[in-house]
Amino acid sequence: MSVLNQKTIKNSAKFEGIGLHSGKKVLMTLFPAPPNTGIIFKRSDLNNNNLIYPSVFNVSSASYCTKLTNEYGVSVSTVEHLMAALCGLGIDNLFVELNSEELPIMDGSAKNFIDVLQNIGFKISDQPIRIIKINKKVTYSDGEKFIKFEPNKISLEIDFEIKYKQNLILNQRNSINIYMNDLTDMYNSRTFCLFEDVEKLKKIGLAKGGSLENAIVLKGNEILNPEKLRNTKEFVNHKILDCLGDIYLAGYRMVGKITSSQGGHNMTNQGLRDLLSNNDNFSIIELKEKNIPHSFLIKNPLKTSA
Ligand SMILES: [Zn+2]
Repeated sequence: MSVLNQKTIKNSAKFEGIGLHSGKKVLMTLFPAPPNTGIIFKRSDLNNNNLIYPSVFNVSSASYCTKLTNEYGVSVSTVEHLMAALCGLGIDNLFVELNSEELPIMDGSAKNFIDVLQNIGFKISDQPIRIIKINKKVTYSDGEKFIKFEPNKISLEIDFEIKYKQNLILNQRNSINIYMNDLTDMYNSRTFCLFEDVEKLKKIGLAKGGSLENAIVLKGNEILNPEKLRNTKEFVNHKILDCLGDIYLAGYRMVGKITSSQGGHNMTNQGLRDLLSNNDNFSIIELKEKNIPHSFLIKNPLKTSA
């Protein structure tokens, strides 16, 4: 069966944890979904109007995390790490049910999602996948910060740069080819914050669930977490993870080159809105054997067998 066919998971998967910003306990269950469903969120704690269809156009807030709100005002937030895991694993169809307003933060990375889903395995349908192919360069900028979307023949490349005054971060840059590189470091990279910002975040009602269990906290020249860093570029790798998750809100996996300097959730979302608002900028292509970008085949073809 073609590895280019749409995928879901073989069985359901449960994740229990707390919301990073809400601090609320949450149970999230992922269920297999039929072809052409896409990813759908359902708030099981509400009886009505509780379905949320991810889209770059229903991102209602993108400061510190990505929040989606449906037409009835019902939200799910901090969707980005799960979305990045689903994109990286090539999961096209899934029901995501949760009994609170925010996804569980787990350890602040996508590691738990990846470990559990790879263990459960995948079910491949007979329906071909679709991809978004970028046709024209689109740049969104704010001062010297920017995100740029450009055409790319066969793969999705994310080149990201961060610049911090914090001594342990400073300037970090990495480029990851999502369909060809080993993504382990990116999946394992945790969210981070500066110790001096923790109080500030709590004052504006954020990071209520934040702890050393789910975020890297930096104070002066010290990393407060006993585990220290998981990889040498963990900070920028986490930003690439966030960027990938935010990009998957476009609805399909993408083929293109994305370059960002000092971007974040909001900048990625604004750039995607510009990109997808004009049909000349992109095409949606159904992938059949004859137009296979070979990078889709190189990446873990055996792992995707049903
Ligand atoms: Zn993040």
